Amino acid sequence: MTSTNDIRRSFIDYFAGHGHATVPSAPLVPYNDPTLMFVNAGMVPFKNVFTGLETPPGPTAVSSQKCVRAGGKHNDLDNVGYTARHHTFFEMLGNFSFGDYFKEQAIEHAWTLLTKEWGLPAERLTATVYHTDDEAYDLWRRISGLPEDRIIRIATSDNFWSMGETGPCGPCSEVFYDHGDHIPGGPPGSPDEDGDRFIEIWNLVFMQFEQSADGTRADLPKPSIDTGMGLERIAAVMQGVHDNYDTDTFRELIAASESLTGVAAEGDRRASHRVIADHLRSSGFLMADGVLPSNEGRGYVLRRIMRRAMRHAHLLGAQEPLMHRLVPALVTEMGQAYPELQRGQALIEEVLQREETQFRRTLEKGLRLLDEETAGLGEGGELAGETAFKLYDTYGFPYDLTEDALRARGIGVDREGFEAAMERQKAAARAAWKGSGEAADGELWFDIAEREGSTEFTGYSATEGEGQV
Ligand code: ATP
Ligand code: MG
Ligand code: MG
Ligand code: MG
Repeated sequence: MTSTNDIRRSFIDYFAGHGHATVPSAPLVPYNDPTLMFVNAGMVPFKNVFTGLETPPGPTAVSSQKCVRAGGKHNDLDNVGYTARHHTFFEMLGNFSFGDYFKEQAIEHAWTLLTKEWGLPAERLTATVYHTDDEAYDLWRRISGLPEDRIIRIATSDNFWSMGETGPCGPCSEVFYDHGDHIPGGPPGSPDEDGDRFIEIWNLVFMQFEQSADGTRADLPKPSIDTGMGLERIAAVMQGVHDNYDTDTFRELIAASESLTGVAAEGDRRASHRVIADHLRSSGFLMADGVLPSNEGRGYVLRRIMRRAMRHAHLLGAQEPLMHRLVPALVTEMGQAYPELQRGQALIEEVLQREETQFRRTLEKGLRLLDEETAGLGEGGELAGETAFKLYDTYGFPYDLTEDALRARGIGVDREGFEAAMERQKAAARAAWKGSGEAADGELWFDIAEREGSTEFTGYSATEGEGQV
């Protein structure tokens, strides 16, 4: 079996062998891009290169980029534990051409690597093109020899990428792997494409136009290539498993979680172990890159991820803080490729333990309240927004944790009611502030700042910049 670590290496070696400059992963916190919460695609560190503001590391480059998709436009948090293919933290393998090669060579490289170097059977692969992109369609036909019905024209934004309202944009081609008809789901473009049978493994973006503020598109003088392949998804394919969570790395992390909790990852316990393994990775990597839990912005996203994992640990019956004890397994699996994990190990363990110790003080009481308030609710029921807010405010339950906790029972949360309760409290705090006279009450100020911050993050992500489509 080819290990995930070997596959990463093999991808980089292939493109380095074809003259691409090897670029190490950038940190998860984007430098120089206040519109984006976390790096969420391999092209993000190259944004300024594509727009011409920075010089490229070479005419072509290859990287394996750490990505987090847990907020904003790309939010896969709610998918984790429930689909075979989504993580909050994952690695995106990518090859890039900065005005060097274009569509033809990008498709050639992709096809050669997948079917010749790695030996994937062509009959399992399907490609998509943007519906008007005849050039890409013809190239796929000629280079891959795929039959016409396995090169699918797609008219949605799934196959048209843009960096933002203005700037570089262009059509893209996605490559899908068919895991077999025993798995529910249809081919791309079909009504049940969201199933997990045909899994998107690689996205090739053909940056070909420059979009101006008035919506017109001009040809870019030097068309460019940006590709992204999920390492965990290609690892599943190459290891002969359907599910990312059955690959070597995840099996080790889940085994560690099973052995510490004494609970097998089976039946309705499976999702909890998956959430724990996934969130261990995102929390660990975020802290290794300098993010610490807090009540606003990036730190609050991290706290939400951590607390969610901690609730699942509690659900598995863990009596003591668990997450920090899983860090050694993470470092064993990924510390060689990412030495920042080794350097950060002590800090990551300490922060996780402190957070979990703190959160456990209110977790149980909050869950009891949640049970009481939902006792009369069946599937399709809804928790009052006021209660969700109390859980947030008094027991430190991030909104999405409450949602996640009720999901298995088919109960929703009144989001508007939650936000209205939050609004009321902010207004009350503002009124109290006015009444306190000229001298600012330190504690109250801090309180308001924290609350403003923790809600601000929703607005922040609404204007978030874009990674890949
Ligand atoms: P999907 O449609 O499956 O959500 P996507 O179209 O959002 O994927 P892209 O933005 O095109 O994904 O990212 C490029 C590649 O990164 C994808 O083809 C996939 O292999 C991988 N990828 C994207 N999101 C995730 C995720 N949450 N977890 C693991 N891999 C991912
Ligand atoms: Mg997606
Ligand atoms: Mg997609
Ligand atoms: Mg895609």
